Amino acid sequence: MAAGINAFVTRERIEGGTGPLSGTTVAVKDNISTEGVRTTCGSEMLEEYVPPYDATVVERLLEAGATIPGKTNMDEFGMGTTTETSHFGPTRNPVDTDRVPGGSSGGSAAAVAAGEVDAALGSDTGGSIRCPAAFCGVVGVKPTYGLVSRYGLVAYANSLEQIGPIASDVGTAAELLDVVAGPDPRDATTRFGAGERPDDVSDGPDGHPAETTTYADAADGDVDGLTVGVPTELVEGAVEGVVENFETALDDLRARGAEVEAVSLPSVEYAVAAYYVIAMSEASSNLARFDGVRYGHSADAGADAGDWNEAFARTREEGFGPEVKRRVLLGTYALSAGYHDKYYEQAQNARAWVKRDFDETFETVDVVASPTMPVLPFETGEGLDDPVKMYLADANTTPVNLADLPAISVPAGRAEGLPVGVQFVGPAFGERRVIRAGSALA
Ligand code: GLN
Repeated sequence: MAAGINAFVTRERIEGGTGPLSGTTVAVKDNISTEGVRTTCGSEMLEEYVPPYDATVVERLLEAGATIPGKTNMDEFGMGTTTETSHFGPTRNPVDTDRVPGGSSGGSAAAVAAGEVDAALGSDTGGSIRCPAAFCGVVGVKPTYGLVSRYGLVAYANSLEQIGPIASDVGTAAELLDVVAGPDPRDATTRFGAGERPDDVSDGPDGHPAETTTYADAADGDVDGLTVGVPTELVEGAVEGVVENFETALDDLRARGAEVEAVSLPSVEYAVAAYYVIAMSEASSNLARFDGVRYGHSADAGADAGDWNEAFARTREEGFGPEVKRRVLLGTYALSAGYHDKYYEQAQNARAWVKRDFDETFETVDVVASPTMPVLPFETGEGLDDPVKMYLADANTTPVNLADLPAISVPAGRAEGLPVGVQFVGPAFGERRVIRAGSALA
């Protein structure tokens, strides 16, 4: 069955050393560089690109003893919510193969859900770990911006994205986070690792001592006294089956001693719009390097030999799929002289507002909870013609990236036979809190 879901772009084993992850298989999303093993980003542009070095997270996995069985399928350059924009064909949801696994880390989540691997790494720019985790009924963690090194991650929108773990239970995901987290001299945005937490972020309510150092230790399911804020704005737009499962999850938390209260995040109304302007703007700049000279696909110069502009354009026309082209065009437009203030700057203002809203909310609650995705997994093919519908599905995940915060998605039952995910968001570097809250449910 598993072979039929197209979770892998490349199956090539990379054996690790000896360590805490010995005997564990960890699949790696195909936008994370692996020395000697091709790294395609789901794109024709990089179909034959073989990195000369390992990403820091890959180095850490191998040092910890993990075996990497291959590279997983993804939306092209991470641009999508379904893993259908991949040049290598769509990945199927193992729970229902007529449905999408979510995206863009759909191959990673599907491989875990199908039992093909013990765990996987994904990357999350606007929900790409949490969405597929929710759609496939597994656990995904999007770390605080700066907790995990992005060295060797092929950039889509670098101010928003983080690498994070996907696994079938919270404990395994947390163990993987322990391995990959922490400062890296090759990524100047990295900060605290396990045991180096800033003093102002406690593990949550009283009774969780500061000497708890690993993320895995925090997966103890103890939410007694935890205050959970539920932003009405992130529940209102969800379909009925999702809301019902979410309410049941809140009841579970209450039964375990958590307090649930309504909170408001008025700025999130603008999150999807702001996210897409920023993500596309950064993408237009980041993807400029794929010109047929430095990396990957190079169009046959033919009649254009000697005309650099023509060769560049032809390479990009052939190498990029429609969603990537759409975003490069829109991003270039948003950054162009005369429009920069109207779009990019406004989006940055909205981003600051979303951050402020979360900061204020964390003055009164320990974590924020919402459905991860407002919808159930789409049928394969359903959304390909309607990009705006796809973008709107990111309503609950994108605010978290705009605010640089940590979040976890955990499975919370099924509606119409399809998995539903619940998301917990914490204050910056409050990974332990969201892991603890998530472990109460899954
Ligand atoms: N669906 C979002 C997008 O297409 C999220 C992608 C991601 O997190 N990489 O941008």
